[in-house]
Amino acid sequence: MEIETIRKTDPEVAELIEKELERQQNTIELIASENFTSKAVMAASGTVLTNKYAEGKPYKRFYNGCENIDKIEELAVERAKKLFNAEHANVQPHSGAQANMAVFLYAVKPGDTVMGMDLSNGGHLSHGSSVNFSGLYFNIVSYGVNSQGEIDYENVRELALKHKPKLIICGASNYSKIIDFKKFKEIADEVGAYLMADIAHIAALVATGEHPSPFPYADFVTTTTHKTLRGPRGGIIMCKEKHAQGIDKAVFPGIQGGPLEHIIAAKAVALKEALSEDFKAYAKQVVLNAKALAQSLMDEGLDIVGNGTENHVMTLDLRKLNKTGKDIANILEKAGITANKNTVPNDPQSPFVTSGVRLGSPAATTRGFKEEDMKEVGKIIAEAVKISDTNDEEKLKELRQRSLNLCKKYPLYKD
Ligand SMILES: *Cc1c(COP(=O)(O)O)cnc(C)c1O
Repeated sequence: MEIETIRKTDPEVAELIEKELERQQNTIELIASENFTSKAVMAASGTVLTNKYAEGKPYKRFYNGCENIDKIEELAVERAKKLFNAEHANVQPHSGAQANMAVFLYAVKPGDTVMGMDLSNGGHLSHGSSVNFSGLYFNIVSYGVNSQGEIDYENVRELALKHKPKLIICGASNYSKIIDFKKFKEIADEVGAYLMADIAHIAALVATGEHPSPFPYADFVTTTTHKTLRGPRGGIIMCKEKHAQGIDKAVFPGIQGGPLEHIIAAKAVALKEALSEDFKAYAKQVVLNAKALAQSLMDEGLDIVGNGTENHVMTLDLRKLNKTGKDIANILEKAGITANKNTVPNDPQSPFVTSGVRLGSPAATTRGFKEEDMKEVGKIIAEAVKISDTNDEEKLKELRQRSLNLCKKYPLYKD
């Protein structure tokens, strides 16, 4: 095993990796942006490909010795195009944020107006947050969601007509409704803006038809490969053929140096997996599981933003209970469930405290969880919320055991 190889050189790091494996095996992972890759994906990412410089595109490199690398990257590109029905794909972005940065570099100039979803309403940092390059170098007009957690498309249209953006971004990190890409395209066309769809979170749902596709509408589609898509950490940009050259140049030499070819190999493996029938069944189960969890929580008397979910993610709304996302995420950790605090629409609390907890089904579904298991997860969460003001160690111990029982039912990386 690789861990033994690491241990020989560096026992400290080896031990921490082993502890992390145990943590992943023995807790219920509900962080909506996380997942568990296959062993094949992980193995591909830890190969000799890490030794190779391959600046440039397949068959047009700045370095010699790329004959194997070229074929690997070509496989990743072809599979991405096939999976999403895309005209062009660049698989080199090191992350989702880098994919977005490359689109900015190609599509807009510093000072141009860009519209994106506000971070505290579910958007991503790279969609115009004031602390991110996107917010620092561009004139950002943010749109949000209504009290039901839904995008108000009429409001988006009004803002677009008023501010005339060059680029409109749709797609989110915490949005539980179906996104109407067609409406976004109509708005973008009305004001002559480019449309970028960032499907970092819903990539697997788009790939399998569980969520409508932005590809007929968007000029650019960016994604991460490590969330629902279940690949290595990384990004992909897809676009219409007419933007292909410009996007490729924006990635390299625009914002990156040498591509991570070991990660690109892992992307190729993950994309092959995503083209399988098994993956279709997985994506379907992700949605069923999210719906089952939302229903269970509501049956237990808890509030969910928008009263449910249409995809893989939901936000527990704690305002009625006068509890904070920070406290509840911490108590959930003690109960064996990992999740993150998150703002709710019009949150009275700061982003460091929040009134919500974001919950997602992708990782638990990879382990094998089904609807009945998610129902039990909902009950554990509800009980943890109930005792969050007490120091009921006995009860916490019981909840931790119930979480562990579910983990034991679906072993992770055991064979
Ligand atoms: C996660 C996410 C990203 C960024 O991905 P990183 O790989 O963490 O840089 C970009 N956009 C959206 C909508 C995301 O959810």
